[in-house]
Amino acid sequence: MLARRSGSQQRTRRFNETRGMMDSMTMTATMTRLDNWKEIRQRFEKSKHRRQFQFGEAEREYVSSRGMDIIRRHASDFVRKRLRPANPRNDGRQTPTKGHPVFIAQHATATCCRKCLSKVHRIELDRPLTDDEAAFAVNVIVQWIADQMNTPST
Ligand SMILES: [Zn+2]
Repeated sequence: MLARRSGSQQRTRRFNETRGMMDSMTMTATMTRLDNWKEIRQRFEKSKHRRQFQFGEAEREYVSSRGMDIIRRHASDFVRKRLRPANPRNDGRQTPTKGHPVFIAQHATATCCRKCLSKVHRIELDRPLTDDEAAFAVNVIVQWIADQMNTPST
């Protein structure tokens, strides 16, 4: 008799093989600013502090059970409410360091607050983000998450 995979293993596998790939293809097609993902990644991977933010089992399970479309929606929501306005409330402390995979991704990618967006991604302070800048932040978060999901956990 064939051994059956558990539901969660099947979900993870499906995610890696279809959803993950589909999402990165859609992203490349629509978002020209991430053409230089390698260069963008180097901006935040230089920081030892930021490299410490990595997915554990809980984050992987959360992302694979919801799928990337939902994760992208959550990321857009956080960016719109907590980053987009000029001088957001409690800037520098508006993004918790745990509790949602998107939060981890934001700290890892320097999209956690306007100070980090300014310092690492050269996006001006003291004004609302443009549509492009908000989309850029969301895409960086989603791309980083897709990378984590395609990297075996350590
Ligand atoms: Zn920050």
